[in-house]
Amino acid sequence: MERIPYAYCNEFFTPRNRKQKFCNKADCQKARKVAWLRNKMATDSDYEADQKLSHKKWTVSGLRTAFLTLVKQKQERLTGVNPKLESLRKTVSI
Ligand SMILES: [Zn+2]
Repeated sequence: MERIPYAYCNEFFTPRNRKQKFCNKADCQKARKVAWLRNKMATDSDYEADQKLSHKKWTVSGLRTAFLTLVKQKQERLTGVNPKLESLRKTVSI
């Protein structure tokens, strides 16, 4: 198949099929997903309502807070750095 340019990264790539408009680079795939989500939210009211309900459940139930706490704990375990203490240390510049 002929190589085509894509506007997002301005590079030529060989699409796997006629529908493919994004190359496989991470940023281009991210742009593809954002474009898909924007289109879906604009054209599918059920999907939009489901997304809003899901987001509300995630934030109101406290799961989001619990998740972020776990992420911080894991980050601290992996790096040995406590983000809050590090931030305070930089502020005070000890
Ligand atoms: Zn690309």
